[in-house]
Parts: sequence; structure tokens; C-alpha cells
Amino acid sequence: MYINGTWTEASRDASFDVINPADGSVLSQVFDGGADAARDAIDAAANAFKSWSKTTAYERSQILYRAYQLMLERKEDLAKTMTLEQGKPLRAARTEVQYGADFLLWFAEESKRIYGETIPSARADQRFIVAHQPVGVVAAITPWNYPVSMITRKVGPALAAGCTVVLKPAEATPLCAIKVFECLIDAGVPDGVINLVTGRDPAPIGEEFVSHPKVRKLTFTGSTAVGKMLAGKAASNMKRVSCELGGHAPFMVFEDADPVHAAKGAQLIKFLNTGQACISPNRMFVHASIAERFVEVLSERVIKLRAGSGLEDGVAIGPLVNEAAVGKVASQVDDAIAKGATLHCGGKRLTDGGLDKGFYYAPTVLSAITEDMLIYREETFGPVAAVMTFDDDMQALEMANDTNYGLAAYVYTRDIGRAMRMFEGLEFGIIGINDINPTSAAAPFGGMKDSGLGREGAREGIMEYLETKMGGFSI
Ligand code: NAD
Repeated sequence: MYINGTWTEASRDASFDVINPADGSVLSQVFDGGADAARDAIDAAANAFKSWSKTTAYERSQILYRAYQLMLERKEDLAKTMTLEQGKPLRAARTEVQYGADFLLWFAEESKRIYGETIPSARADQRFIVAHQPVGVVAAITPWNYPVSMITRKVGPALAAGCTVVLKPAEATPLCAIKVFECLIDAGVPDGVINLVTGRDPAPIGEEFVSHPKVRKLTFTGSTAVGKMLAGKAASNMKRVSCELGGHAPFMVFEDADPVHAAKGAQLIKFLNTGQACISPNRMFVHASIAERFVEVLSERVIKLRAGSGLEDGVAIGPLVNEAAVGKVASQVDDAIAKGATLHCGGKRLTDGGLDKGFYYAPTVLSAITEDMLIYREETFGPVAAVMTFDDDMQALEMANDTNYGLAAYVYTRDIGRAMRMFEGLEFGIIGINDINPTSAAAPFGGMKDSGLGREGAREGIMEYLETKMGGFSI
């Protein structure tokens, strides 16, 4: 834990274990903070806000730029920590560290572009001036699936805007948070400006975040259920809120698309991070005329994916985060098969070759998915590709939009008109057109409907941490 410039180590009576999901072993122990720690951290952040908010954008930019450099210098160490506590293969962990560092660089630049505006008045003796000021103390809550980039995506713009921060990382991945903080501290972020509260039980810390009068903004990434609960409480205390929540991405392949190319894309994005990504495709809609070829190529590729510890060369599928995640994936697959889905590969927990100690589920391909199956509605967050067919574009669009979620969607077509109709018709915040990686620090990330409020990254990302102030001057 790190409050007001002081680290607190785990102690015998206040600590919790950090588990390696690849083998269930204990990696480390971390301080178990609660409401008291959250209050201390908020007080420290409120105090530090007085001076941090007065620094120039150029000073803040320099510190963020230095933190970006440190994160890249320490990429290997950060990536290894991520693989150990979160499970993703080392190569993917390195990619995430780079992605995470990109937010620090992007917002180091954006801090210098917090422009205001002058507005002409109808009165000759009046001037309107609009300025932006930091909102104040920001409380941030982040998930375990992208344990570095989800932090920099919030802390980067908050610091760039002149806000101070209290972060509560996911209880499964506090070690990555500690290493990100070390980069920021070594880059020169002053005491009290960033504070880290680790804890086994998130509820009392969250309660403090949404009720403490000195917190002006809550930024949350995680499940829709928890996001809605926290946003509701924050709203009753009139705090600003932004939320990046769950997803249920449709992956649409039209009759003019190349089924081989689309199947390759489907495999790469679906099995990224063992399916534990908010932008992971949950339902694949493939035109009936090319569905057989699509499923054939997808299955051939998926069968070759090797599962194991992310530290081993050639491993593409790491463990799921915990036992509950394995149970959820298994229940969706079993439900689909019981209701008539066809299993092409996978469909079971992996235990051979020492995998029984970790949380592994075989990469799975299912077809003949129907609307009555759990997987049609619920976020899977695991390595399961669920394919269904369609005959008509509008039918496909309706099915794709038939979800409460609205984060990412993917479209494969060579027809520019069809691509534009889908781009306009899909009720999702991020649309990949023949593109499985529509994410970047420079591009706005966020969802519609139950997938959240606000955007992260891009020009929009810093506005989430700024108030608008208007001055009317009589001269
Ligand atoms: P989760 O909601 O259980 O946990 C997310 C964070 O919220 C963790 O830090 C957790 O400790 C905290 N939390 C849980 N209960 C809380 C409470 N009562 N009060 C305060 N904090 C609480 O979600 P998860 O399972 O860790 O993460 C997976 C979810 O996150 C998925 O639904 C995924 O789609 C979503 N996600 C969304 C994005 C996005 O940008 N939209 C990115 C990554 C993950």
C-alpha cells in the first residue's frame, strides 16, 4: 500500500495472498487495507491537490513522460510480474506493458492541450471565457484482466489534468499496480498525488470512494453489476462517474468476406488473454453460405493452440483467473451442448501435464448456437468461440444489437456500403471493420448501453477529469 509517499508492507495481521493462477501457488503477500486506509489515502490526495493542481501542464507532462520511459525500461520485469499473477503469455504481457505505457505518453502530450475557448456575446460590453480545471480527487478501481494498462488509462489522464488519485487495484493483481506506482514515483510524482490502497475485500474501500465528500470523481473498470451499484451510490452523492464495464461483442462475417481470413481474425481476437477481454467476441454471426468453411478453419487453428504457463515458449492459452471463472465457462458450454450446440473442439477442463493445479479450460469452438442458450446473452470471459449462422444482413444486425451490452463489435465484409451500414447501425462504442484491433491510446475507448459511461484514451479521455468553468466579464 502507498499513502502520502509512504509504503506499508504486508504484516502478519493485515495481509492477503497473491496467487499464481498457473499452478495455484502463493506468489507474495500484500497489505490488506480497508476503509481506514481509503480515508487516509483520500485525505492525502485532497491535501496534495492544493499544490499539484497549481503545477503547469509542462511540469506534469515531464513527469508523465519520464514515467513512460521508466515503464519501457522495466518492460521485462513488469511483463513477468503480469504473467505470474494474471496468467497471460509473456509475449502478450509485453504487448500490454507497451499499451499501458502508451497512455502515459499520450496524456503527457494532451496535458499541454487543455485548451479553453472564448465565446462572442450579444452584448458589446461582455466577454465569455471558458476554461477547464481539474475535477479534484479521483478514486479509481481497476480489474485484473489488463492489470497495467487499465491503471495508466485512468492515472495518466487524471495526473495530466492536474487531479490527484487514490487507486484500488483488483485483489488478484496488486503486484502489477505496485510496479506501475514505482515507475510513477521514480519519475517524480510528489507525495500524496498518487495513493494505492490494496485490499482483499473491495466493498469497504469502494463504499468510502463513493461516499467520502472529498472524492469528486469515480472511475471504474470492471463488471456491469458492480459498476452499476457503485455508479448509483456515487450519483446520490453527486460525484462524477465514468465506467468501463462488461461486453458481449458480435463478430459478423458477411457472404462477400473471405472465410479463411475472417476465421484467422476470429481466432486471434477471441482467444486473446484466454478470452478474458471486455472486447472479446461472444457471438460469431456467419453467413450461412460460408459458415462451414469458417468453422472448419477456425477449429483447425484453435486445436493447435497450446495451453500452459505463460512463462513457457509457444503457449498461447494461459489459465483463467480463478476456479469460479472455470466454472462459469464450463456451465455456458455444457448448457449450449445440452440445448443442441455442436462441439468442434475443446469443451472440457484441462488437467493433463500438470495443468490440474491451475485454472485451465480447453480452447473451444461451438456452432449451432441459439437464442435460448446462456452464451447468447451472458458474457463468457473465457476461451469459447460460439458460432451461429444468418441469411440476411438486417437479421444479423438485429441479432448483433440484441444484447444489453454495447462495447465492441467486429464486421468482415469487402462491400463498403455494407461496412458503412453496419458501422452506423451497430449500437456499440468500438467497431472493427475487417480489423480485430481497433484500440490505441489515441482512439476513444468505451461502451454504450450497459457497457458503460464515458470514454478513455484519446482527446476525450482527459475531459473526463476536467470541469468546465465559464466566466462572463463586463468590461
Ligand atoms: P469486478 O467488477 O468483479 O471487479 C473489478 C474491480 O471492482 C476490482 O478491482 C474489484 O476489486 C472491484 N470491486 C468488486 N466489487 C466491488 C465493490 N463491492 N465495491 C468496490 N469495488 C469492487 O470485475 P472483474 O471480474 O474483476 O473484471 C472483469 C469485468 O471487467 C468484465 O465484465 C470485463 O468485461 C470488464 N472489463 C471492462 C473493460 C472496459 O474497458 N470496458 C476492461 C476490462 C475489463
